[in-house]
Amino acid sequence: MSEMLQQGATIGILGGGQLGRMLSVAAARLGFKTHIFEPGANPPAADVAHQVTCAAYEDEAALRAFADTVDVITYEFENIPTSALDLLETLRPIRPNRRALAVSQDRLVEKAFLSDLGLTTAPYAAVDDEVDMAEAIDEIGTPAILKTRRFGYDGKGQSRLRSPEDAARALSDMAGAPAVLEGFIEFSHEVSVIGARGVNGEVSCYDPGENVHTDGILHSTTLPAKLTASQRMDAVLLTAKILNALHYVGVMGVELFVTKQGLVVNEFAPRVHNSGHWTQDGCAVDQFEQHIRAVAGWPLGDGKRHSNVEMVNLIGDDMDQVPELAREGSVALHLYGKSEVKPGRKMGHLNRILGPAG
Ligand code: AMP
Repeated sequence: MSEMLQQGATIGILGGGQLGRMLSVAAARLGFKTHIFEPGANPPAADVAHQVTCAAYEDEAALRAFADTVDVITYEFENIPTSALDLLETLRPIRPNRRALAVSQDRLVEKAFLSDLGLTTAPYAAVDDEVDMAEAIDEIGTPAILKTRRFGYDGKGQSRLRSPEDAARALSDMAGAPAVLEGFIEFSHEVSVIGARGVNGEVSCYDPGENVHTDGILHSTTLPAKLTASQRMDAVLLTAKILNALHYVGVMGVELFVTKQGLVVNEFAPRVHNSGHWTQDGCAVDQFEQHIRAVAGWPLGDGKRHSNVEMVNLIGDDMDQVPELAREGSVALHLYGKSEVKPGRKMGHLNRILGPAG
């Protein structure tokens, strides 16, 4: 048995957004403190953390001082500069490990990793210039989607091609960034699995949730998802395969397309995931506690779901509905304390309990 973090220990979290906020709350419930490292001002996690450092990821002195105060380091978003991680990993354990982060940061590396594991992805090809683009279209055909290899999120850094004539426009949308062309997958719906792996290699996955996106942003996750028993099993097993292959410690979100031919892996996120927020009100141990347990070397919760749940994101002026939603008895509200409402900004979410698990 590896060492379990003791009461009062401090977990360092890189990133202070809503995920860092909910991780901090979960950590506090288990008797831990958190120290948030975040370059932006007024991070949502600051309200509920023991300590906050507002500094750039290039600030070596701040990174060292941060590491000095924590027992283990985790992160709530994947685009942390490599130089910061190079330094931090010499000072404290980083969980999930660097490899998981490196693989997920680059769509091309990620696709190759998933294919090597024997998992199905969209057909793909690297595109750096017009010549690659022409070859990729020859190979993959259209419709297709061109995506930047790095720094894409919520559908950003993507351009759709209906026909080969769209090639020049799509390439210019990438603004010179290295990209990947992906064949368009005809899926019936999208699901995701939130899985966790502990320090000792135990794996626990939550039931897959069904996701609906609007304008590239997650709108809702509903449990149970429309899946056959064997698809459900497949989804969980392939998630375990990814977790084990990376010797992963922590929670991961795996996004899948459901097609007539089976499940296609879109991508994975090496962190707690928006499509796992339903676990807060659908399970005894939610994804945030699960992640904290994993990085703290604790045993994992079993991931069992006790309720059917619908999670709905509150984006931009959806916040106007809060007074009315607060009157609904079976709705749990989770608001992020962001003072400024902006279109497309995730302000909070709700979990609506639909009934006992079934
Ligand atoms: P991503 O940023 O890769 O998660 O993509 C955002 C959304 O675009 C996904 O949730 C899908 O709805 C859609 N999408 C991404 N890749 C594909 C694909 N290869 N085929 C069809 N739809 C896709």
